[in-house]
Amino acid sequence: MKKWILACSFLFATTAQCCVHSGHKEMMVDSNQIQVPKIISTSDSQYLEPSTVLASRLVVKAMDIKGFDAESLKKLKSAFVVLEKVVNSAEFKNRVINFKNNQNQRSFASNNGYSNEQIFATFMDGRETLQPNTPGEMNYFVQLYYKRYSKVIGWTNGDINTINVNWKFFRNFKPSEVAGNLAHEWTHKLGFGHTSAAEHDSAPYAIGYIVREMGERYLKGEELH
Ligand SMILES: [Zn+2]
Repeated sequence: MKKWILACSFLFATTAQCCVHSGHKEMMVDSNQIQVPKIISTSDSQYLEPSTVLASRLVVKAMDIKGFDAESLKKLKSAFVVLEKVVNSAEFKNRVINFKNNQNQRSFASNNGYSNEQIFATFMDGRETLQPNTPGEMNYFVQLYYKRYSKVIGWTNGDINTINVNWKFFRNFKPSEVAGNLAHEWTHKLGFGHTSAAEHDSAPYAIGYIVREMGERYLKGEELH
């Protein structure tokens, strides 16, 4: 079974090119090189006018939250607010639909054969592989744990609803960073993966980065459209 693990390397830069062990994919994110996914410009022939794509609305729904103290829970709830605000914005829609991969194509890496607009539609439909009967909802089962010597900031796999989040990283994260991580992991819940830690143009990574970047601006007081 596939297991995706989101790990963070900013404290472990020298081990950034780490291993893929059996069934585990460790992903490294370098906070010194914040990834801001690029989009196709309006003058490009590949540009797709967002209004030609229907958008439904998503509601973030906390299903089962475990291991959080009052302060951590407050941060998690802030992250949920940020996440819901970002994913329902016109900018998010445009950035997903007109996302361009590292080959300058309007396409995500590891896209399961889906176009950008199909990935957007799948995302906004809210039907997780394990929760297919709850359209319109981002269902979150989150468990906080603490592993001091781990590089993993959060992990999940295809067999479980739970997204496990390491407090070691969570405690220093801004709500926008938590939201980005939750978006990344939730994209896995829809069945999208990535081949490696370096596949920054995969759907989980790219969408996570979009949420994090937009979320940061939102937290600074910018109104998202
Ligand atoms: Zn992942």
